[in-house]
Amino acid sequence: MHFPCISVPAGFAAPEKFHFQSLLFRTIILNLGHDLSVNLPFSTGKSILAWLKSIKSKIVVFAITATLIPSLGLGLLSFRQNEAQISDNVTLELRTLTNYANREMELWIDKRVHEVHVTSTSSAVIDGLSAIEPLGTDMVGEDPRALAHYLRSVQEKLDTILELTVVNAAGQVVASSAETPAMMTLPDDWPQSSLTEGLVAVPVHWNKQYATATVSIAIPVLSYDNILMGALVAVLDLRTLQPDLKSATKSPPGEVLLLDPDGRTLVSSHADADELMQLDASSLQRLLAQPGESLVFDGLTHREVIGLADVSAELGITILAERDYAAVYGAWIELRNMFLALVSALVLVMAAVAFQMGRSIVVPLQRLIRAADRIASGDLEVRLSATRHDELGHLTQVFDQMADRLRRSHADIMAANEAMQQQNQVLETLSITDSLTGLHNRSKLDAILNDELARFRRTQRQFALLMLDIDHFKTLNDTYGHVVGDEILAAVARILLQSIRSIDYAARYGGDEFIIILVETSAELALKTAERIRSHVESMCYSVSDSTITVTVSIGVVQCQPDDITPTAVFTRADHALYEAKRAGRNRACRAP
Ligand code: GH3
Ligand code: MG
Repeated sequence: MHFPCISVPAGFAAPEKFHFQSLLFRTIILNLGHDLSVNLPFSTGKSILAWLKSIKSKIVVFAITATLIPSLGLGLLSFRQNEAQISDNVTLELRTLTNYANREMELWIDKRVHEVHVTSTSSAVIDGLSAIEPLGTDMVGEDPRALAHYLRSVQEKLDTILELTVVNAAGQVVASSAETPAMMTLPDDWPQSSLTEGLVAVPVHWNKQYATATVSIAIPVLSYDNILMGALVAVLDLRTLQPDLKSATKSPPGEVLLLDPDGRTLVSSHADADELMQLDASSLQRLLAQPGESLVFDGLTHREVIGLADVSAELGITILAERDYAAVYGAWIELRNMFLALVSALVLVMAAVAFQMGRSIVVPLQRLIRAADRIASGDLEVRLSATRHDELGHLTQVFDQMADRLRRSHADIMAANEAMQQQNQVLETLSITDSLTGLHNRSKLDAILNDELARFRRTQRQFALLMLDIDHFKTLNDTYGHVVGDEILAAVARILLQSIRSIDYAARYGGDEFIIILVETSAELALKTAERIRSHVESMCYSVSDSTITVTVSIGVVQCQPDDITPTAVFTRADHALYEAKRAGRNRACRAP
């Protein structure tokens, strides 16, 4: 994959710290910044909004969504299933652990009951109890020290028993292996309830005297003829249960803890009980509310554990089985993190690919749009070179051909337009020009005279008008022909043009008559000009065959007057002056009064 905008600034990362993901991320950000035409950090929300609406962003969003939804959906589903499966397995294992522990405790108690029962049926105990009066009475009987000695010897042999005490039927202590026997009160119905199985006289509790957890059991002592004489009470060290618990927790793995009703650890399968803290009340409450169901809580053996509780009604204790949460879910968590990292990397790669794909579509499109904009604004000198061989390359080619055709059409139109303008110019000139003499024609003369009259009324600047007529032109025509007549008309016209200023006008009025308008000229000056023209025409020599033709003109001179409203008024007065010149003998100029 090619990233044209990848640039790693100096000091960005040492080679050993160079990560593909960070490079990818940087590339996207740099491209994005470039794309938004802003310097990072993004300065305007408007640019971001515009980017979000662009085709590129839509492709990127689609790619990310198309990657995220299936991968995350399937991944999360599978991880959820795995988690549930792990949870079920662990719950099953923890239940097995509590069952094992329960069974071990029952076996342990049964064994202890049996041991104490054997002792209670010994002749030493039966005989001793029948002969001894309770301690603290005044009555004289057998010395209890012999029984106490016996009890001590038995107790020393059995390391699970901390104390053996014989009480009479009234519950009074008769003899004990301990110097100060533990206080206890047997319930009223104790003989009946304990006849067969013995009785838990004092439930499991933390015994400060022995600094361990103890449970006291009472076994009835019967005479040889089965009469209840009293009881043998044994204080059992619950700590001796630990090896049994430990062996029970080898498979499945985990820790078993025996807790008192307050959550204090009495025995632990893996540690000394006095090293462990008390389970917090809320966790204990939750566990007891759902016995046999696993929960996650701050445990006693690890910071976070998954555990479940079972209650031993017989001993009045809670059996807690727990496992380190991290150990149980460690592999799962690691796999989940790896999956999330993989999905993130995948999303980044897909985003980069989509971004690049978007660019490869949008950049040529933008080039085309800019070119189309230039053409729309009248700049046809746009040329795009198609370097790609896909649809956009084809579109660029077609665009170039279109622009080329447009340029040629435009050039043709411009040429045709120019030609038309020239033709119009010619037509316009022809429409105001007399074809024979090249002077203004009659219609143009009328327009000029109207303009001059209007200017005169506006500015009071005078102008003069000369009306010229060739003398005896009919005769010339008749004598030399019309062609010669035409040439004479053209020759007279040339003299007229040579005799006036550039601001003055010369026109053919019709037949052999001409009009000259002298701008800002008085009648006197006009008369002088008329005389000069007359003289020029007269002096013109025109040779036809062997003879020389002399041409003369008569001229009527008028000056504009305030009552000259129309050209006709001016022409009429000029015509009168011309008539005067003709009448006076021709070849002269006469001024109208
Ligand atoms: P006058 O001195 O009184 O002006 O006499 P004239 O013979 O010139 O009389 P008039 O001005 O009336 O005659 C004009 C003649 O000009 C009549 C006509 O045959 C001739 N004519 C008009 N137009 C043309 C033209 O275009 N070419 C030629 N060769 N002759 C023309
Ligand atoms: Mg004439």
